Amino acid sequence: MQDIKNLWEKVLSRVETNVSVVYYELWIEPLELIDYKDKLIIASNSQNAKKQVLKYHQKELSDAIADVFGEEIEFEILDPQEKDEYLKQNKTEETQVFEEDEKKFVFNPKYTFDNFIIGKSNQYCAAAARAVAENPGQKFNPLFIYGGVGLGKTHLLHAIGNYIKQNNPKLKIQYVTCDQFTNDYIASLGTNKEKSTIKGTVEFREKYRNVDVLMVDDIQFISGRTSTQEEFFNTFNDLYQNNKQIIISSDRPPKEIETLADRLTSRLLSGLIQDMQMPDFETRVAILRKKAQLERYFIDDEVIEFIAEKAATNIREMEGLLSKVYFFASLLGKKTATIEDAREALKEQLDIQKEKLTPESIIKTVCDYYSIDYAEITGKKKSKEIVEPRMISIYLISEMMDLPLVTIGKLFGGRDHTTIIHARDKIAELVKKDQKTKMIVNDLKSKINE
Ligand code: ADP
Ligand code: MG
Repeated sequence: MQDIKNLWEKVLSRVETNVSVVYYELWIEPLELIDYKDKLIIASNSQNAKKQVLKYHQKELSDAIADVFGEEIEFEILDPQEKDEYLKQNKTEETQVFEEDEKKFVFNPKYTFDNFIIGKSNQYCAAAARAVAENPGQKFNPLFIYGGVGLGKTHLLHAIGNYIKQNNPKLKIQYVTCDQFTNDYIASLGTNKEKSTIKGTVEFREKYRNVDVLMVDDIQFISGRTSTQEEFFNTFNDLYQNNKQIIISSDRPPKEIETLADRLTSRLLSGLIQDMQMPDFETRVAILRKKAQLERYFIDDEVIEFIAEKAATNIREMEGLLSKVYFFASLLGKKTATIEDAREALKEQLDIQKEKLTPESIIKTVCDYYSIDYAEITGKKKSKEIVEPRMISIYLISEMMDLPLVTIGKLFGGRDHTTIIHARDKIAELVKKDQKTKMIVNDLKSKINE
């Protein structure tokens, strides 16, 4: 249920971006997921709220659910009276725990160090996060992690949180997104200046300064918010001077966050700045295996490699493809998803990729990879340095595209179709037998799909 709860939070925040603030606060935010069997049972806080959501926001809600859960799921909204009745009839342990747990922020229990696969692209970030979790406030302060979307920044922040909660439970940790920080700050100013400012300020300080560890996720959104930056700067200094740990994530380095005040930039630069990249093929495979294991998806290994190859831009997207394949197979009543299921489930995505694909772009990628010329690879030379890349190009083109052999032959200086077949089959055989060729081919495929 805990996981479902996290998903539910995601659903709400997705709807949040699509409805006006007022309606969100009135009707959407109070929606509570109270059960999940074959459909989602959602409680609203009034009869009117139920009516409004059904009338005006049903589509946003069902889109968000489909997005987050990876499939369309039916839902039912209950008004308070119906909720009571429902709970009476269906009282389970799970629903009870769920009610108690409600308002407390919880780190996603799946986002742990154990579940974080380390590869070349993220090893320094992971090591720094680990060091900070073990000795907060002592080593790298602030720790600034940056990288593109869906590469694991939030996962690492939660991993730090989970680790500290478990090993150092007395420490106070505050995790917020930049938007939450901004909202809290604005709220602290109050609407009625005389009355609420002091109370607001006290609460705000209690929340952000009376902590041992402060994490701000996606700080790039502070760009352009002058007074929030000012307040963050003050918070930062206060914590820093008291040796409290500060951890920040961003999609770009401090210097590239526009309109970030110089003094704030230099504060952020004073600690450890570490970037994350897209993991290589092997790491992607390991991540997908882990994910399948965690979610108890039964998936053929072949499918895992297939997805790792196709998804070259971000891990979140890659995990999305995996769920898609799994749900597709389970809708067909299958226990294990096979490569055929994968091809069918991801048909649309693959078609989109195919449209962008040309044989020339494949040859070009191979040329870049081996640092040879286009003219050479498509020319007559028979030296080993050229022949191998040429055969690999031929193999990739015939594997990845639906082209007649003659057409492929033309691309390579008018070679006849038997030569093309020979090259294609030779590499296909090597891919099966030889680890190195397999790696090269996989690497090339992901580069081509990027
Ligand atoms: P970001 O915050 O950088 O946008 P997230 O932390 O939300 O990205 O990661 C997106 C998804 O990818 C999450 O489900 C996360 O668990 C997963 N993920 C990213 N990197 C790894 C990794 N190295 N090992 C396991 N899962 C990962
Ligand atoms: Mg994130």
